Amino acid sequence: MGTENPGRPNFPMRPSFTPFASAPPTVRPFSPSGPGTGSESSNFRPIPPGAPPTMTPFSAAGPSPPVRFSDPSVPSAPIASVPPSGAPYQRFPTPPFPSAAQAPPNRAPPMGQPPFQPPAGQISVPPPFFRPQTQVLPVPMGSPPQNANFPPSSMNVPQPPTDSSLSGPRPNFQPPFPGYPSKQPAVSQAPSPFPAQQGSFMPPPASPSPFPSQQGSYGPPPVSATLGYQSRDQMQHPGSAPPTGGVQRLTEDFSSLSVQSIPGTNDPGLDNRSLPRPLDGDVVPSSFLEMYPMNCDPRYLRLTTAAIPNSQSLVARWHLPLGAVVCPLAEAPEGEEVPVINFASTGIIRCRRCRTYVNPYVTFTDAGRKWRCNICSLLNDVPGEYFANLDATGRRIDLDQRPELIKGSVEFVAPTEYMVRPPMPPLYFFLIDVSISAVRSGMIEVVAETIRSCLDELPGFPRTQIGFITYDSTVHFYNMKSSLTQPQMMVVSDLDDIFVPLPDDLLVNFSESRNVVETFLDSLPSMFQDNVNVESAFGPALKAAFMVMSQLGGKLLIFQNSLPSLGVGRLKLRGDDLRVYGTDEEHILRLPEDPFYKQMAADLTKYQIGVNIYAFSDKYTDIASLGTLAKYTGGQVYYYPSFRSGIHGDKLRHELARDLTRETAWEAVMRIRCGKGIRFTSYHGNFMLRSTDLLALPTVDCDKAYAMQLSLEETLLTTQTVYFQVALLYTASCGERRIRVYTAAAPVVTDLGEMYRQADTGAIFSLFSRLAIEKTLTGKLEDARNSLQLMLVKALREYRNLYSVQHRLGARMIYPESLKFLCLYGLALFKSVPLKGGYADVQLDERCAAGFTMMALPVKKLLKLLYPSLIRIDEYLLKPSAQADDFKNIMKRLPLVSENLDSRGLYIYDDGFRFVIWFGRMVSPDIAKNLLGPDFAAELSRVTLTEHDNEMSRRLMKILKKLRESDPSYYQLPYLVRQGEQPREGLLLLVNLIEDQMGGTTGYANWITLIHRQVQQN
Ligand SMILES: [Zn+2]
Repeated sequence: MGTENPGRPNFPMRPSFTPFASAPPTVRPFSPSGPGTGSESSNFRPIPPGAPPTMTPFSAAGPSPPVRFSDPSVPSAPIASVPPSGAPYQRFPTPPFPSAAQAPPNRAPPMGQPPFQPPAGQISVPPPFFRPQTQVLPVPMGSPPQNANFPPSSMNVPQPPTDSSLSGPRPNFQPPFPGYPSKQPAVSQAPSPFPAQQGSFMPPPASPSPFPSQQGSYGPPPVSATLGYQSRDQMQHPGSAPPTGGVQRLTEDFSSLSVQSIPGTNDPGLDNRSLPRPLDGDVVPSSFLEMYPMNCDPRYLRLTTAAIPNSQSLVARWHLPLGAVVCPLAEAPEGEEVPVINFASTGIIRCRRCRTYVNPYVTFTDAGRKWRCNICSLLNDVPGEYFANLDATGRRIDLDQRPELIKGSVEFVAPTEYMVRPPMPPLYFFLIDVSISAVRSGMIEVVAETIRSCLDELPGFPRTQIGFITYDSTVHFYNMKSSLTQPQMMVVSDLDDIFVPLPDDLLVNFSESRNVVETFLDSLPSMFQDNVNVESAFGPALKAAFMVMSQLGGKLLIFQNSLPSLGVGRLKLRGDDLRVYGTDEEHILRLPEDPFYKQMAADLTKYQIGVNIYAFSDKYTDIASLGTLAKYTGGQVYYYPSFRSGIHGDKLRHELARDLTRETAWEAVMRIRCGKGIRFTSYHGNFMLRSTDLLALPTVDCDKAYAMQLSLEETLLTTQTVYFQVALLYTASCGERRIRVYTAAAPVVTDLGEMYRQADTGAIFSLFSRLAIEKTLTGKLEDARNSLQLMLVKALREYRNLYSVQHRLGARMIYPESLKFLCLYGLALFKSVPLKGGYADVQLDERCAAGFTMMALPVKKLLKLLYPSLIRIDEYLLKPSAQADDFKNIMKRLPLVSENLDSRGLYIYDDGFRFVIWFGRMVSPDIAKNLLGPDFAAELSRVTLTEHDNEMSRRLMKILKKLRESDPSYYQLPYLVRQGEQPREGLLLLVNLIEDQMGGTTGYANWITLIHRQVQQN
């Protein structure tokens, strides 16, 4: 689709019968004299017909080839998708985009050209995908004929795996629950980087060790080592070690923990209460906006440090990730919505050279006739219609009416040159597994009901399009033509050569076909209620959905309940071979098994299709492979292991409803520009790179964030300030093409201390977690953890060195106030699902699903997952009458330490994805009776929390509601557990109290001791 560089249409050619073909967009005539157009044609490098698809699956691999900033003629790496035909570029004039890292421009497919022929080998049936219906039997609604009338499947498809192979033995996962004697995994694991207990720290294994040079130099820590904490006030005048000389700024410079030895005790002796903890959740550093009030709000863009280093040597000493996190469609509170600006005939004002959008940091000169670009310094002409006089101070007199000149967050209405076709309508396509396991789980019913209940809220009425495919061992299409009274089902059983049995009416305008759609959804659960088919022709069904959607693009929601077993993309059980774990082969289990998935993801992205995967199985479903579809299409993985509608139905209902109704941006691309001398070199999240720096995002919404790393291109930056500008070009559900633009400035500094002072822990961990998860895809879990630990140690050591000459630091561990939670979040990341332990600690699918999820999370949500909230509510529930203030008080978060759990108490643990409600052994019987009703004494794993007719129960439900409302992106299902109910208590709660030293992992205090000791070893 039109790119953020208008006129570099990467959108694939569409068949001539597309509904838009008859109405070509009004486009400006191509103007050769236009700014920079010359470079367009010279940049174009045709790709020979039949060349492999050129979308580059995102890879964490190193920096892209450098592209010189000021030389628009230098083409960047040839990795943009290029229409395979060599049709001349003629229809869509292209305001050029000679930005630094520009991809070679692609040419727009002229309207009305022959139907698209996909490159050979990609899909077997090219659009228009229509073939005579030799094998198609329109059948009445109802269970599809499974075995009749079709050639035996063995004639068409490779022998499917037998059913038993799907339910084969699984490794016996016995997580070592904290709090109980932990059972060592049956396979040998590499030594954990965590000391099992103090005094037993072993250096990590040789080669990938973060500390290779220091192997053997770790003496076991003194058994009696004790941490004592000094508050900042105490620290200010530490009696034992008064700072020497020039220490006036000591307290401003750093915070510290005193690490002392108290001989004669084995007790860690730590006053746990005084360790730094993020009990206020994500606190955005205020400096970003204070220094530059016209910057965009940090909810959209955050830098890992708001002080940009001026030299490469300074970058090298920073050690922490240097970069940004962008959440381009973050939800704004009421009254802070991003202003929408329509330049209409003036056109959008952009820098002629680097294509930066006009923003608050450009300056006007020459009596208002010129403006200087803040990113590349070029002096641009002000178009006549945009002219305004300057006042005595050089400011435009019309500033009040120009939000784009005073606000860092704006949205422009994009004119036709930002389109390569008319803006697409919102489109939702559903691919639903109807095999026996899906039927039995109750998933189909919940999905059908939820879609039906959301129909009125789907964005984009009355243009919204909708369609459905279901599948088991065959693929079922539904004709939804508005003139029908009920949908007509067509079954295709030729899985080897899947085709679409009807050219139109599989995808329909929802407002026209509403009755047919509703009839379909009402009857879907009963249609398959007696289905006993165990197979899953997932791959062929996916290809079919792709064919149906490829004309328009849109959102594909996949509901998969079993391991794909038939046709292309069938997967096998893997992960059962315990010998693989802990070896160099282990990470392969976390990667897609079949190249089909990555290739499909590339094709889907190219055709503007974003995929969300909903996975439900109680058995292995290879989330690593399935999730790849979401990862590279800007989508999301929802994982409901062992789904049962009676238990998990609410979670699915809420999350699917949010997915369907949240505001969504369609056919989007995103780019972040920055000033001369610096460059974004790597991008991390769920998307595919279309060129070196253009993120292809078929769909985007408020729940997605993207992270990127920055590097210096020049040895020394000479400017005082650098600027960043994010641009998201997308189609809004209302049908307008829009460009969301965020601009921010940050100071360039020469001082490492300043970088630390301006550090943003949330942004740092957003990058850290993505880097660490990516590392689990190329090596052992342990290596990922080790490299994370190494970064922490290096950063703190460098920081210590800043002050160690000046001050006698002794045994004190010092850290910047801005990074006081660095160690704790580091520990939390160590213990997070994608990274923790070994094979026995987390099931493979769960680990992979968590990895895909965390790669997309916005900062606030990520930090809550890393350090969840724990609140105590029994006192509040028992109060005769509740005040609003009480409510505020109970929301106070507690440290995640098991010794804080009072057995008379009732607690809610909330990580943003689920609630665990913990009943102390001695909790008031009143509470238990009121909340649980007649089940109050039952084993809580069998109790579902429902509202009872009493004040206490209503209050609890109100609290849960309030917690959910604070972040509705996922729905927390409540899990009840009673103190001592094992192993449930350990699995649900204790293992998540990350400050505890349990189950072979390190506790917070010991972790700090460990890090500190390593910091001291120069
Ligand atoms: Zn510029």
